Amino acid sequence: MPLSRRSVALLGATGSIGVQTLDVLRHESERFELVSISGGEQLSELAAIADEFNVKRVAVKSDAHRSTLGELVARDVSIVVGDEGLSELSSTADVVVNAVLGFAGLPITLAALGAGKRLALANKESLIAAAPLVTTVRDTRGAQLVPIDSEHCAIHQCLASSPAEPGYPDVRRLLLTASGGPFRGWSREQLRDATKADALRHPTWSMGAKITVDSSTLMNKGLEVLEATALFGIDAERVKVVVHPQSIVHSMVEYVDGSVLAQLSRPDMRLPIAYCLGLPQRLTHHWGDLDFTTSMELRFEPPDEEAFPALGLAYEAARLGGAAPAWLSAANEVAVEAFLADEIRWCDVVAIVASTMEHYVADPLTSLAALHENDEAARRWARASLEK
Ligand code: NAD
Ligand code: MG
Repeated sequence: MPLSRRSVALLGATGSIGVQTLDVLRHESERFELVSISGGEQLSELAAIADEFNVKRVAVKSDAHRSTLGELVARDVSIVVGDEGLSELSSTADVVVNAVLGFAGLPITLAALGAGKRLALANKESLIAAAPLVTTVRDTRGAQLVPIDSEHCAIHQCLASSPAEPGYPDVRRLLLTASGGPFRGWSREQLRDATKADALRHPTWSMGAKITVDSSTLMNKGLEVLEATALFGIDAERVKVVVHPQSIVHSMVEYVDGSVLAQLSRPDMRLPIAYCLGLPQRLTHHWGDLDFTTSMELRFEPPDEEAFPALGLAYEAARLGGAAPAWLSAANEVAVEAFLADEIRWCDVVAIVASTMEHYVADPLTSLAALHENDEAARRWARASLEK
């Protein structure tokens, strides 16, 4: 039976995930109607998307952006501004794709779930920071949280046949795969001289700059451990990281009977995006399949936690709970931004996160106001350690 046409809000439409979502939507115009979009600084791209898809509403960051965009779009669209604008667009479409970068994606996550919508979540930072608050809004009638992040999307698929009992008692472990990034196999000494160009050269995925740097430090995998605990309600001790350089196995679930289920595909984010949009139906993929007619090797190895201390920091943040993951993610955002602006070296990035975490004071995180206070405090400490 065909799906009825679903309305889609794509927030962060001009970024790497945003552009790939548009690719999927171009092929699926009979099933989905793109009604709302947002973007940060790339206003001419945003205007082009608004015109191509005939969108009704656009969210931008500021009043100045609103006037510029108003001049760029050929048609009449309603332009909303700031966090309120993002929240408004997130509560009015059937499916909300959160493809905004960083903590700035928080209003989308909270508004979409709070309005009982399907949230197709790429923006891991908001879920990691606000996990205790998201648990509450997730119970809203109709709300559905489906992960675009390829590892979590793989796990979502591998868990599909499991009874959805809290804590998944049938599951022994979630096995998150990691490509290992551009510095896999580098020693601590070699890593001291790692450059920005090296860090931005990801071996298997083409992504936005921040997540590419996170992949080079393995902080991305650390964040994904926290993301997995928040999404599936499974303690971090039951989430293990396995390095798999080919990025073909996107993650695995090990059951108590010793059986391991894996999800495989070419490394292409349009697959998890399509999965999240189409669920429970599968959408046809147009971008090439895995080729089993030629030989292919799948390799697995343990991560080097000594050379990449970000993983240990993430497990520690998971153990501390409360606002600790919010601190880790905020400090990392500050450090990565400074690295991309050539203010610090690659090896300083995780060191700054570590020294920020030393100032964390336990907070169970029971309100949005507390989350904002914690986020600001972590950023202040991270900036202070940048100056050291
Ligand atoms: P990107 O930098 O390419 O795009 C980010 C988008 O967010 C852009 O549209 C940008 O204009 C917008 N944006 C940035 N800052 C903003 C702000 N302060 N306010 C409003 N809008 C803002 O990033 P990306 O690589 O597409 O990643 C987006 C999210 O998806 C991240 O959370 C990332 O971790 C996650 N993710 C990305 C990939 C990938 O393959 N790129 C894979 C898994 C998860
Ligand atoms: Mg991922």
